[in-house]
Amino acid sequence: MQTVLFHETVFGPIHSRRLGTSLGINLSPTDGKICSFDCVYCEAGYNAQGQGTSGVPTRKQVKTALTRKLQQLSDEGAKLDVITFSGNGEPTLHPEFADIVADTLRLRDRLAPQARVCVLTNATFLANPKVTAALAAVDRPILKLDSANGLTFYHINQPVNRKVTVYSVIGALARFPKGKAVVQTMLLRGEHLGKPIDNTTEAEIDALIEAYREIQPAEVQLYSIDRATPEHNLTKIERPELERIAERIKAAGINVNVF
Ligand code: SF4
Repeated sequence: MQTVLFHETVFGPIHSRRLGTSLGINLSPTDGKICSFDCVYCEAGYNAQGQGTSGVPTRKQVKTALTRKLQQLSDEGAKLDVITFSGNGEPTLHPEFADIVADTLRLRDRLAPQARVCVLTNATFLANPKVTAALAAVDRPILKLDSANGLTFYHINQPVNRKVTVYSVIGALARFPKGKAVVQTMLLRGEHLGKPIDNTTEAEIDALIEAYREIQPAEVQLYSIDRATPEHNLTKIERPELERIAERIKAAGINVNVF
């Protein structure tokens, strides 16, 4: 079993393929994982490893750690492109998510005005108006949609609450402010629990294009596996194939980039 990736609430800066120099905020436990999905490719491992014992950080703890780190980076004259909510699970699950985002935007304005604020989210809590408003307030809300096919969605993302469906997620994404969301799609092939997984087929990409049209995102980001995954029977989609898929999506009038 894997262990979680991040052992601090504020971590980095790290280099991100997509975002540049990124200071991370982990609103999940530092010794466990909490997520409403249990993706077969999750770099933080499966939910089965447990939620740990540290609990989630309080709003005050996040604010203190972030202030200290941003002040230190500012004193050092360090370059920072982005402050990113990610970590060992789903950030919007945190009960004080909206308030923590507001604190972060204020601290960014004061101590790192050049940095954008991003949130990586699986988009399962968009029914909560406070979560949606907080996501709409950041510079780059990056929302996950790996498949527009119900079965593939279940096999890849394994939602904890089986009432969460691909239709509920796409519907919520389509209600998000138009032109604001960045939609990220992880493309992969493989097998999990004896079931084949492939979200790169023609039918899968056609369904994704239809969903992107409905959502009208600012951008679609395509990527594939980059680190160890809890399911070992997965194959990375190499860049030339990602680029071919991107061409099809672009031909449908959608702004798409490959990472
Ligand atoms: S949504 Fe993100 S954190 Fe949650 S299981 Fe999937 S990859 Fe991991």
